[in-house]
Order: sequence, then C-alpha cells, then structure tokens
Amino acid sequence: MSRVIGIDLGTTYSCVAYLEGGQPVVIPNLEGLPTTPSVVSFTSAGERLVGTLALRQAITNPRNTIFAVKRLVGQKFASPEVQKARGKLPYGLVEAPNGDVLVSFDSKSLTPQEISSMILGYLKTCAESFFNDKVSDCVITVPAHFNDHQRQATKDAAQICGLNVQRVINEPTAAGLAYGLNTGSNGVAAVFDLGGGTFDITLLEIQDGVFNVLSTNGDSYLGGEDFDNRIVDWLVDDFHRETGLDLGTDKLALQRIKEASEKAKRELSFTTETEINLPFISSDKSDSKHIRKTLTRGTLESLTADLVDKTVPRIEQALADAQLTPPAIDRIILVGGQTRMPMVKKKVSDFFGRPPEEQINPDEIVAMGAAVQSGILHGDVRELVLLLDVTSHSLGIETENDGYEVVIERNATIPTRKTKAFTTVENNQRRVKIHVLQGESPLASLNVSLAVFELVGIEPAPAGVPQIDVTFEINADGLVQVSAADVETGSQHKIEIRPSSGLMASEVKEIMRSLGEGHGGSGEDG
Ligand code: AMP
Repeated sequence: MSRVIGIDLGTTYSCVAYLEGGQPVVIPNLEGLPTTPSVVSFTSAGERLVGTLALRQAITNPRNTIFAVKRLVGQKFASPEVQKARGKLPYGLVEAPNGDVLVSFDSKSLTPQEISSMILGYLKTCAESFFNDKVSDCVITVPAHFNDHQRQATKDAAQICGLNVQRVINEPTAAGLAYGLNTGSNGVAAVFDLGGGTFDITLLEIQDGVFNVLSTNGDSYLGGEDFDNRIVDWLVDDFHRETGLDLGTDKLALQRIKEASEKAKRELSFTTETEINLPFISSDKSDSKHIRKTLTRGTLESLTADLVDKTVPRIEQALADAQLTPPAIDRIILVGGQTRMPMVKKKVSDFFGRPPEEQINPDEIVAMGAAVQSGILHGDVRELVLLLDVTSHSLGIETENDGYEVVIERNATIPTRKTKAFTTVENNQRRVKIHVLQGESPLASLNVSLAVFELVGIEPAPAGVPQIDVTFEINADGLVQVSAADVETGSQHKIEIRPSSGLMASEVKEIMRSLGEGHGGSGEDG
C-alpha cells in the first residue's frame, strides 16, 4: 500500500511528515530541509520555482514571486482583509468573475488554489523522492477557524496537484495529537497557534487515548506577517522623516525591507538588539540613500504589543465556550514560528499562570500530527482510539429582514447533522430558496455566505402544505453538506446549489487538465 503523507500547508512555511513504526517523522525537502517556504516564483525565462529557490527570487523578481497565498484562499476580492493585503503585497490581486480574489502577474491571473497546488505539488515530489515511490494520498491541515470556503479551496488545491485528501484536520488539533501521542499524558491542553498569517486557540481534553476538542477560536488575519509589516512601516516612516523619500511605492525596496524586517524579528527572539542594514535602498538627485538602524527587542515589543493583545479575547472566548477558567488548563502547547517571540510566550504564560511545554518544535508538530491522523484513519496508531473535533463557526440560514437562524452551533462536535423542515409561503410555490451562512453575527449580511440552495420541483399545493426536510451536515473535514427529502414521499429532493465562492468540480478538473496532473516536478518547471 502506498504511503499517506501529512501536510501542514503554512502561510510562510510548509512541512510534510509520514508515520514510521507508529511515530511521525518529518520528510526533508529536496534541499534536505525540514520546512519549505510557501513561495512560488515565475521567472522571465518562463520557469516556475517553488520553495527555497522561489524565496531567493523575492528581491529581484518581486512582482512575480507569490507568498502568503494562504491568506487569500477562499476569500472575496472585496473583503476588508484582501483590500488591506493589497497595499502590502508586491504582486497584483484582481477580482474573479464570481467575486473571489485572483493573483495576477505577468498579464496572467491564477486562483490562490492553483498557487497552493504548486506548493503542495512540490511537497508531494519531495515525499516521492524520499520514498522513491508515488504518493497519492494525504491528510492536510487548515487553521481551526477556516470556514467552509477556505477548507474546500485547500482541498481543491490538493486535488489539482493529484493528491487525494483523506482528511482535512485542524492545525491545533493535529499539534495536540502529535503531542499527546508523544507524551501519553491525560489532561486539558491549550494549543496556542500563531503562525505566519493566522491565529488559533484550541482547548482539548486528552483522556486515555480519547482526544476531545472542547472549543476553538481564532483570527484568520493575525500572524507573523503583521509583525513584519509593523517593522516595515517603522523603517519606511523613519526613512521618510529623514530623507523626504517615500519607499512605500517602491516594490523592490519594500521587498528588501520586508525580508530584513522578518530576519530582524527572528533574531530579536534570541538577542536584545539587532542592526538592519540596507545599503542603496533609494537615491535622490544628490546621492544614494541607505537604511542603517538598530532595532531593540523593546522597540519591537512596543510596535507589536497590540497584535499580541488581540489574541487575549479569543482565548477568553474559547475558555468561556468550554466553560473553563485558566487554572483548569494542565498544559500549554505553542505552535507556529511566531510563538518563539518572548513577548508572545510571556503573554500566554501570564494568562494561564503556567509556562508552556518545552521540547516541541512549533514548525514541525502540525505536519507530524497530520501524519498521526493518517495513522488513526488506517489503524496504525494503537494508542489513540478516538478524535472528537469541533466546528469553529456556527452554521445557519438567512431569515426575513437580514436575520440569521443558527442551525448548528459553533463548537458542536463533528461530524454533526441537523434536520429542519421547510415549507412554502405561497400557493403552488414550486421553489424554496435557502441561503446558507457561516458565522456568529445576528445579521445575515455580516456572516460568510456559503451558498444558495434552491429546492426545486415542489408539487403544486396550498401554501404551508408541502413539507421538505433539509439536512445540514458538517462532515469530519469540517465541510458543509446540505441534502433535502420530501416528507410525504420520503424521496430525495432535488437541490440546485449556487456556491458563493470557490471552484466548481468541473473547474478543478479543467485546471488539472490544463496543468497536467502531478505537476510538482523538481521544484522547477515551466
Ligand atoms: P509558520 O506559519 O508556523 O511557519 O510561522 C512562520 C512565522 O513565524 C513567520 O512569520 C516567521 O517570521 C515567524 N517566526 C519564525 N521564527 C521566528 C522567531 N525565531 N521569532 C519570531 N518569529 C518567528
């Protein structure tokens, strides 16, 4: 039987692992490294580079080097998040005909799913080279608070590169699985996951091999990139003050500043001050201009304290949903590279009144957990008997006057299903429209629109007589499915679906055809 790989598709770095003798093991990439930059670059020679090679292009080829695409997956172009990202990204973003966001470069535009599929294709190639065998199945992780669109888009990305997704699993849950398998200890764990682009907090109870997620919360627009951008803004403002020159519109300079800022941020997790040195960053009529600044840990902390504070209400909500208080938490597991920042560690320790677990590699534990999950699916992990995860968002339908009726509450254990009876409001009405939404706002318009489902072919009858049972289901991947049955006849009712976002199955097939399946190649192909 061919191997199943576990993939952590991160905003900035990705990692792939597999299960060997019941234990998760990280698979090195083609350069021999455990993690791979989630970057794709298109060169002027028509080559496509993925990972480290692509990252090296970022400064010289900023407009055609795509990074942080995870922040765009499953998003609408008009969303405030995308509009905010637009100002910061050196590559272009445009609107797709269905309102989704597209990445544009070199007079081409691609969906975020296609870019993600190139990163996944590269990881697949790394695994195939490691095993010297074909790999076609995977378990893939997503942030716990990813909505249906973002989950489906991630699954589509895997399918485009020829990977069959056996399960989509939440990143903090995966981390909890890998940790629990390793230590075998019982108790309630808080998984605090601050990666490159997203933040998740998940509370889970581990009891004799049963992993029970109690609650989850998060922010899909809070991560290491925001910390980097604070340093970038600080440098750009300072440069403007000193020279009168605005670097904000110079994409090449911005990319250099961004890279130096991220590097300085990392260093400041281990030292208390560092120098940012960027010679010849710009010039005016008189001479060349350089950036040479000392950044202290204290300044970095004051630039980013509010970002760290933004995690607190999310933790409080997760605790309230699980009906727990901080002393009830036995262990704190830190996941995601940004948790290496001392201020983040301190915030979490102070909040819970205990230090986080040591000896966890925050860059690798999620992929390892995905590999563990593949072992659970195939009966290869005897220590773990059951994983009970939850849905991170409430699922409901639009009612009159922009109202919202919740059908499945957030933090319900998945898979879950609820049936609701629908009828007609007019005589001889042949169709009933159901607008399915995800979110917590009482106003329909402030939640995420998943799809419009239309029950069609209803037999003519007086208003209120037909009864159609509609079943809303959230499967183990956290994906939403809707089906309908006629109560009178018991027969399945026909539903027409208009998804509000994402690719149709036929579009995924079309992309696969045009790209040729399994296009990972050697990380360089054209
Ligand atoms: P991940 O999504 O887990 O790969 O997280 C990557 C994020 O962690 C990026 O924003 C990195 O800049 C950040 N990161 C990695 N190492 C460190 C470090 N030593 N200190 C602070 N942030 C870091």
